[in-house]
Amino acid sequence: MDSKRVYRCSFCGKAQTEVKTLVSGPGVFICDECVRLCQDVIAKKAGAQKAQDSLLPDNAPTERLLKTLSGYNSAFESVDRAMQDVVDILREREVSWAAIGEVLSVSRQAAWKRFG
Ligand SMILES: [Zn+2]
Repeated sequence: MDSKRVYRCSFCGKAQTEVKTLVSGPGVFICDECVRLCQDVIAKKAGAQKAQDSLLPDNAPTERLLKTLSGYNSAFESVDRAMQDVVDILREREVSWAAIGEVLSVSRQAAWKRFG
């Protein structure tokens, strides 16, 4: 792995060097510690449908919704960074701007202007 790139868990913010495992998704990462936390939540809520419903946005307190909204905002930034990382790797492999633009449904020039 290229040491200049630091990948962080999208949930807790820890870098890949601070956790045992970092699993990557499309623009997001989750560490083994956060997966374990999720497993605990799932285990606790299993069978308790009412408690599960309380986790849905429709039933969340306003304060939590505001926090969620702010989290979505920073998610855009982290997806943007993740896209830049992937483009950098592709460019190091000499993948053309045309090919990158094609998968992003933009022109070669637009891809280069955004990520070049
Ligand atoms: Zn984490």
